[in-house]
Parts: sequence; C-alpha cells; structure tokens
Amino acid sequence: MPEIRVGAGHDLHRLEPGHRLVLAGVEIPAERGAVGHSDADVVLHAVTDAILGAAALGDIGRLFPNTDPAYRDADSGLFLTEAVRLAGLAGFEIGNVDATVILEEPLLAPHIDGMRTTLADALGIPVDRVSIKAKTGEQIESIGRGEALACEAVVLLARS
Ligand code: MG
Repeated sequence: MPEIRVGAGHDLHRLEPGHRLVLAGVEIPAERGAVGHSDADVVLHAVTDAILGAAALGDIGRLFPNTDPAYRDADSGLFLTEAVRLAGLAGFEIGNVDATVILEEPLLAPHIDGMRTTLADALGIPVDRVSIKAKTGEQIESIGRGEALACEAVVLLARS
C-alpha cells in the first residue's frame, strides 16, 4: 500500500462592507467581504493548511507571516502553490480535496463549479478530485449574523 497522508485545515475571517469576497480564487459579488492581511481567501488558506498538515510541514502562518508586508493583499494562490511545491519536494502528490465553506450570504451554489475549477487548476489535479460544499450558520453566532465566514478542508496526499 502506498504511503498516504490526511491533512485538515481550518480558517476564519471577519466580514465587513468595503472588502472583496474571494473564495477559491474566485471573486464573488457580495455586500460584505473578508478582512485580512492577504486577499483573505478562506478556502485557499484552509486547503493550504491541510496540505502542509498532511505533509507535516508546518502551517500557513509560519510560512507566510501576516506581519510580513510582502503578503499584504497577496493572492492566496501563491500560498497554495508554495504548499503544493513543498509537499512535492517531500515526495507527495495530491489525491483529493474536500472543503466546506460556512457563510450566511450570498448563496454560493451558482459559484461552486467555478470555484472547483479554479482550485483544481491551482492544485494541478482534475476537477473531479476537488469538492467544495457550502453551509450557512443558521442565523446564529458570528457566522450566522454575517460577521464572519469560515472554511474547513481535508486533503489526501499520496507518496508519489
Ligand atoms: Mg486566513
């Protein structure tokens, strides 16, 4: 049996008017966008951490500190690409990704396939190995009140 590794990632950002909402590299029209040092893409941050976790290579905050001016408003695709590269150097290729976005609004259903395609391209794997699901916060707590959004992701790596 080939060596396989599972990794988990989690991310959360505040939502405020006047910011962009970028999810899996896709800009989504929304009244409130995600606040962060980079482009605050919770999907790419969670998936990046899941890859780093599976390969035991640390975490996104250690590799790309939010105190570093180089990452201000950065395209989070850069973080993901670097995590894929480092995992590759450690001998791993990506099997599949499953991510769940938790967001009150807007409705993500019309954007899911575009997000999957963009994420699959960034990962360099076929889109049928990339799943993105969406949930709401049931109108309670910070996510349900539209004050924040979050993403949970799991990634499978296999020794190549
Ligand atoms: Mg983040």
